[in-house]
Amino acid sequence: MPKVMLLGFRCERCEHEWFPRELEQQPQTCPKCKSPYWHRPRKVDISEENRVTSAWTPHALDGKTVEYNLARGKKSDAGFGFFSASDLGDGTMQIIIRPITGEPDIKLIQDEADLIKTHQGKYRFSCFSRS
Ligand SMILES: [Zn+2]
Repeated sequence: MPKVMLLGFRCERCEHEWFPRELEQQPQTCPKCKSPYWHRPRKVDISEENRVTSAWTPHALDGKTVEYNLARGKKSDAGFGFFSASDLGDGTMQIIIRPITGEPDIKLIQDEADLIKTHQGKYRFSCFSRS
């Protein structure tokens, strides 16, 4: 039998996994625990280097699509995904890219947050440290 890979989401709060009907937009709430914060890790887990500032507000970025190509050490992370951005309440924010492929989340550091621009193509934003 032919097999296909489905793209889905996982709740950060209750670990429920589900497959949306369409991937155009990030779901508003977790279908199981109903948390609107299902895509945000709890704030205590955020390390200092992932507390960043940006010309964009968390609201402007959160849930939007992004194409990225980030040099990380010797390898680069490239693809597209959704931003998850949250205000940390101390003048900083956390910006995460959730790759559409289901690869691990990418937590942006300040140098990478500074690279976020509006995208000229089909995605809402770009974040390129390597072209
Ligand atoms: Zn949940």
